[in-house]
Amino acid sequence: MTHKPKIYIIDVTNRDGVQTSRICLSKLEKTMINLYLNEMGVFQSEFGFPVTHHETNYLNANLELAKKGVLSPVRLGGWLRATRDDVRNAFKLVPGIKHVNLSISTSEQMILHKFKGKLDHGSVIKEMVESVKDARKSGAESIGVNAEDASRTKMDYLIEFSRAAKEAGADRIRYCDTLGCDTPFTIYERIRHLLEEVRIPIEVHCHNDLGLVVANSIAGAKAACDCGLDAYINTCVNGMGERAGNADLVSVILAIKYGNGMQDYSLDEKIDLKMAWKICKYASYAFGVPIPINQPGVGANAFAHESGIHADGALKDRRNYELYDFEELGRGGPEIIETGRKITAGEYSGIKGFRNVYEKLEVVFRDDQEATQVLELVRYANVHNQKPLVDDELKFIAKYPEIARKIFAMIP
Ligand SMILES: [Zn+2]
Repeated sequence: MTHKPKIYIIDVTNRDGVQTSRICLSKLEKTMINLYLNEMGVFQSEFGFPVTHHETNYLNANLELAKKGVLSPVRLGGWLRATRDDVRNAFKLVPGIKHVNLSISTSEQMILHKFKGKLDHGSVIKEMVESVKDARKSGAESIGVNAEDASRTKMDYLIEFSRAAKEAGADRIRYCDTLGCDTPFTIYERIRHLLEEVRIPIEVHCHNDLGLVVANSIAGAKAACDCGLDAYINTCVNGMGERAGNADLVSVILAIKYGNGMQDYSLDEKIDLKMAWKICKYASYAFGVPIPINQPGVGANAFAHESGIHADGALKDRRNYELYDFEELGRGGPEIIETGRKITAGEYSGIKGFRNVYEKLEVVFRDDQEATQVLELVRYANVHNQKPLVDDELKFIAKYPEIARKIFAMIP
């Protein structure tokens, strides 16, 4: 085998995560997630929906950050339906987009009971092929084709669909276990079978309806690597995502690094878990969803020991009861909380208090005019987020005021 396959992460927090019921992120929060994913060395962030109008300014502003080298090397990928109309609209509204995933349902259930005669097996493939070709012509550098409900799709049809996608120029097939009905055994077998027939890198997109999401993602990626092909695992920070969620970003990375039998499989070497603590805490705050006490790696109990034998053992040698080190996840540093007077910056802040806030962050403004301009943006950011801004958000606005202005701008 000449090519040593690798496992990459495509995080979908800003797409599957935000389309989830009852939770959402502001456009500034989505931007911060992109920045943190980039710092973490994640291969691609599925950063949003190019045909959704309230996303337009945010998407274009983030592509500007990519151009400036701020959001780099992370790839910013858009999600859209695999239809010619969606492709046309996506490139019209977000002309700088370079990476896309085009999605269409492939199962009997969806073709018969969702499309209800509008599309059949033949026209699903035809529509997908046309949209791949159009996306390429419009300037897409990488194209993933999503087989929605792949886990309930007849294997012969999935093979035919994937072969057509590859021939049309797709770079990857996204195998979607849309309902979360796969098990590690079935997903391994199915992806292996598919890739033996059609040699194309695979994206593994799993859901947690049976509590198997991380296991399934790893098994699916392993199948691709065993066929000599690269695998891309779809994750969400803190396991957010439709219904019971997608594969948790940190758990997936830990499973590849520390799972028994995974030693021979290579994770993208750019991944740096040092950002784990920061991104998970931030996402929890932004979504308003607490991190469970028993969350792998970043839960409050992930490195806590109380019972006699465990505490004694952990103190003698951490390896007695800890699989990996808390330092590796960016934990262990002090968290400073102001316990006396504190000035905050909000929707109705004035210039004196505002300058005090930024002095504490060691941000210096050129003159009063610049300070006033940033103050106005910080007021808007508070209206936009509807919760106190974190230090990194305040710093971002001061550093990229023109980008921030675009992110906040929305005209219905
Ligand atoms: Zn999904």
